[in-house]
Amino acid sequence: MRRVSVFGATGSIGESTFDLLLRGGGHLAYQTVALTGGRNVTRLAEMARALRAEVAVTAHEDCLTDLRRLLEGSGVQVAAGEAALREAAERPADWVMSAIVGAAGLAPGMIALEQGATLALANKESLVTAGELLMQTAARHGARVLPVDSEHSAIFQALVGEDIATVERIILTASGGALRDWPLERLATASVAEALAHPNWSMGPRITIDSASMFNKALEVIETREYFGVAPEQIEVIIHPESLIHSMVGYSDGAIMAHLGAHDMRHAIGYALNWPERQELPVARLNFAEIARLSFRAPEDARYPALRLAREVMAVRGKAGTVFNAAKEVALDHFIAGSCGFLEMAGIVEDTLSCMAGQLTLSAAPVSLAEVLETDALARVRAAEMADKLQ
Ligand code: NDP
Ligand code: MG
Repeated sequence: MRRVSVFGATGSIGESTFDLLLRGGGHLAYQTVALTGGRNVTRLAEMARALRAEVAVTAHEDCLTDLRRLLEGSGVQVAAGEAALREAAERPADWVMSAIVGAAGLAPGMIALEQGATLALANKESLVTAGELLMQTAARHGARVLPVDSEHSAIFQALVGEDIATVERIILTASGGALRDWPLERLATASVAEALAHPNWSMGPRITIDSASMFNKALEVIETREYFGVAPEQIEVIIHPESLIHSMVGYSDGAIMAHLGAHDMRHAIGYALNWPERQELPVARLNFAEIARLSFRAPEDARYPALRLAREVMAVRGKAGTVFNAAKEVALDHFIAGSCGFLEMAGIVEDTLSCMAGQLTLSAAPVSLAEVLETDALARVRAAEMADKLQ
C-alpha cells in the first residue's frame, strides 16, 4: 500500500486531498502516515480517524490536550509543535502533500524530500523562499517535486513529451482577483471582506487576498522560474477572467498548448496523486457551448505592483525570494489586522527589499534551511518596522 502524508490537512487544499484519498479507498487503499493541522483539531481528529493515520500533529502546543482527548482510544498517536511537525515529516512516506500555508510549510516539505518522498507541492512559498535549495535537495535524495498549484500543474501537463529547450514562453493566466473591475482610485479603500470575494475559486483566506493584490501571481511567476528553470523574460501573465485556461506553454514552432478545466483543485491534486497515470476524478466537465467565450486582458502595472516586484526579485534571485515572501506575509498580516491599507502592502514589501539589500548580499543564494529561516526571520522584523512607519 502507498504510504501518504498530508501537511496542512485541515486547510482548503488539505480538505480536497482528504476527499480524494477517501474516494480512492481511504485506509483500504492508502496507509496514512501523518496528518497535520493548526488550530482546527476537531477536523484533524475526524480526518485521522477516518484514514486511520499513524500520527496526527497540530502545529500549536496549546492545542495538544484537545487533540489528545478527541483521539482517545482511536489508536492514532498525537503530537504538537514545530519539532513534532519535523518528526512527522521524517517518517518514511511515498507521497506527501505539502499544503501548509506560508513559509511554515518549507521545513516539513524539505525534510520529506530528504527521506526521498514524492512531494506534491501546493505550498508555493517553498519555491519562492528557497527554490534552488528545495530542487537541489530533491535531486540529491532522488526525490521528486510535483506541482499542485493549478497553473503549474497545467504547465507540467502541457510539457509532457516535450523538450523544455523548445519552450519559447510560458503564459500564466490570472483571474485578476476580487477587485479586478474596481476603479483604480477606489483600491486603496478595499477592505478584507471585499478582497476575500474571489470571483472563481474557493481557497484559503490568505491566498484569496493575495489573488486580489496579485501577490499570488507574483509568487507564481517566481515559482515558474524556480520549478521549470525558464528565464524570467519567458514568463508572461495574462488576465483571463473566466479562469478556465489554467495556463499555457508556447513552443518554438509557434504552437501553444493550453490546459483547461473546471475551477476545482481536485484536478491538480489528483493529477499529482495519480501521476504518471490519469485516473477518473470527480471534477465538473466543461460545456463549451454554455461557456461560449473566453476573454483576456493585459494586467495594468499601476493596479498590480506585485508583478513588477516579482521581476525585480527574479533579477536578483539568491535571497531576494526569501525576503519577498516573508515581507509579503507580514504585509498581509497587517492588512488582515486592519493596520495597513490594501495598496500599502506592496509598499511594505518594496521597502523591506531595499532595506534588506543594504544589510545583506541578497544575490548570494542561501545554502541551508537554517540560513533561509534566518533571512526569513530578519525580513519579518524589517517588514514589521516598515509597516509601523505607516501608523
Ligand atoms: P488554508 O489556510 O485553507 O490551510 C492552511 C493549512 O495550514 C491548514 O491546515 C492550517 O491549519 C495549517 N497551518 C496554518 N498555519 C500553520 C503553521 N504556522 N504551521 C503549520 N500549519 C499551519 O490554506 P490553503 O489550503 O488555501 O493553501 C495551502 C497552500 O496551498 C498555500 O501555500 C497556498 O498558497 C497553496 N495553494 C492553495 C490553493 C487553493 O485552492 N486553496 C491553490 C494553489 C495553491 P488550521 O486551519 O487547522 O489552523
Ligand atoms: Mg495558482
